[in-house]
Formats: sequence, structure tokens, C-alpha cells
Amino acid sequence: MNKTVLHWSYRDYDHVPLDLLYYDEDLEELYLKENFIRTIPLWMFHLSHLKFIHLSGNLIEYIPDGIHGLKFLEFLDLSGNQISNCPSSLGGLSHLQSLNLSGNRIEIVPKSLCSLKKLEFLDLSDNLITKLPIELCECTRLSNLALNDNPHLLHVPERIINMSSLQSFSANRCGLLYLPAIANKFINNVQMFHNTTVRHVPMVFEKFFSSYFFDGAQSATTYYNNGQQDKDKDTESVEYENNPHYFTVREKETGIILLLPFGTRHVFSLDGPDNQVTLYDDCLHVINYINLYLNFYKYPPFLDSLPSKAMGDHITNGPIARCTNKNCLVVLYTSYYLAVCRKTLSSCKMLFSCFFCSKFCGFAWLSANKGKYINIPWEICDN
Ligand SMILES: [Zn+2]
Repeated sequence: MNKTVLHWSYRDYDHVPLDLLYYDEDLEELYLKENFIRTIPLWMFHLSHLKFIHLSGNLIEYIPDGIHGLKFLEFLDLSGNQISNCPSSLGGLSHLQSLNLSGNRIEIVPKSLCSLKKLEFLDLSDNLITKLPIELCECTRLSNLALNDNPHLLHVPERIINMSSLQSFSANRCGLLYLPAIANKFINNVQMFHNTTVRHVPMVFEKFFSSYFFDGAQSATTYYNNGQQDKDKDTESVEYENNPHYFTVREKETGIILLLPFGTRHVFSLDGPDNQVTLYDDCLHVINYINLYLNFYKYPPFLDSLPSKAMGDHITNGPIARCTNKNCLVVLYTSYYLAVCRKTLSSCKMLFSCFFCSKFCGFAWLSANKGKYINIPWEICDN
């Protein structure tokens, strides 16, 4: 059987031509970019040998449920349309390697995408996404994830950016309240520029840092010094000011408030007493270790006999940071020692946050980086 590729882009079609059916099983790759197509017809899903579909730049508003009928599909580009739904049946495309849904109006990403075990490339940029399902971390081949220009996206689950397959991650111009404090060691491209409420960069992203990260810190300084909100720039800050789930500390030099990763229960200063990291965190380490082999949080009977729902959530959501000391890298769940630093010999005012498992790791890191960073004192916020 010969592979057929149809180049029908830029042809002013206002619908998918029925002539496609003529090619039937021979048709593998279909280009229909930049036409005026409004709907994906259901009969198209009978072309089950299709592997590549290029439908970017059309006027499609809706992905029909039957799309899982394209069971050999490897590549799907629906970027630059007007799609607002993202059906669960997309999870049925078990051969899919590349999915581009950028430039649409999608608000909800279905959990079912976790079934795409061959997915390597996922572009959800320029949509209206509010939340990323943690289940995405089950796409164990995902190497490239783009989330740029989703202004309502406030948080990226740490477990996703810590996926061992991920090599490139971008979330520029989103509404991120803080940057995740953990990443896998193989990631080689990270971009999280212009998230206007971000006030500290976890040290793990220092090598990807550039001055573009900085614009948020400037508005934050204005806000906290004047006690008034800059309404044009800083609207998202309302979201966390009233949100009891976020743990905050105040940097003492300028009063900038730093949001710490969701799930933080205790932070300790390196100046405080020894051995503050709690038994609770030790238990989570042990449970997580056993869970790697048994995954008991997937079975309701086990779940009922576990200590508390909150503890289960901490395990399910994964660690929130990793010890900044490169010789240690222990994962941290709810409690850690925190250091806040600024670069010396640089005009850059961005604050870097360092998370440590112990005072020992904290002081070892600080003394190794003495000339490079200044340690800035902080205090826990009252509210
Ligand atoms: Zn450590």
C-alpha cells in the first residue's frame, strides 16, 4: 500500500472535502491548513489509517467526541482555531505523539490525556486554561510542554515539571503566582518569563534565569511599599491575598512578600534551632518510598486506612521542592529550611529562593556560594 499525502492547505475550503473518502485506507497524511473550515465531519473518523492531520488556522469551534476513531493518529495540529471544548475522548488516541491545541479558547484540560502514553509534544499555549491536571504526569514520554499565554493559569503542579521525560517547558506570560521549586535534572530548556506576580525564582531555575523574570518584582515593590495595589499590573495578587492555602514570608529588606509552594506547612530559618524538619515529613518520605512499589493510594480500601486525607494529598501531589545543595537533592514535602538570596556584583534585584532539607545543607551551600549571593533575612507573614 502506498502512503498518500494530500496537500490541500490554503485553498479557501469552507468544509472538509468529501473527496477524502476516495483515498480511504491509503490516506496517511492530510494538510488542510489555513482554510475556512468550521467543523470536523464525523465521516472523517472512518479514515482510520490517517497518521497526520494538519488543520491549523481554520474556524473550527468544536472537536467531536468520535475523534478516538482515528486510532492510528500520531500527529494532530488544531492550532489557531476557535475550539472551546477538549473532549475526554482525545485520551483514546493511543498512538498520538504530537498534539497542538495552541491558539484556541480551551478552559479545561481533560484528565484523560494521561492515557496518551506515546505523547512527546503537547502545546496548549494561548488558551484560557485555569488548571493543569496533575494526571498529565502519567504521560511518561512527554518531553516538550508549552503553556505560554494562558493568563488564568496560576499554578503548574510540581509533579509535572519534575517528570523525568521532560526536556523543554515553557509558561511565559501566564498568571503563575510562583514558580515551582523542583525540576528534573535532564530538563534543558525552561522559560517562565513575564509572569507578573512572580517575586522569587527558585535556585533550581537560576541557569535559565534572565532579566525578563524581573518585571513582576518591580510592581510588587511598589505595591507593598505604598500599601496600595497597582490595579493595572497586579490583579492576580488578589487571588492569593484572600487564599488561606498559600504560605507566605516577607523579605525584610523591602517588604516583598514571597509565596511558597502550595502544600508548605512549615518553613525554618537557617538562624533558628537545629533539626526542625518534622516527623511528618519523615513519614511522607517513607510512605512515598513504599508507594513507589505498591501505589496504595490508587485503591480505596487502602486509602481508608491511611493516616489522613491531607497526608494522602501530599503524597499524590508529590514533593514540592528539592534540597538546593547539589550533593544532596533530597525531595521536600511540607517543611524545609528556606534561604532568600540576591546576586552580588549584579544590578539584578530578583530574589532567589533556596530550599534545604537541613541546616547543614543550607550552610554548606551558603559557604560554597559566598561571593556569588547575599543572604537576605525574611520573616513569616502574620496573615
Ligand atoms: Zn539536603
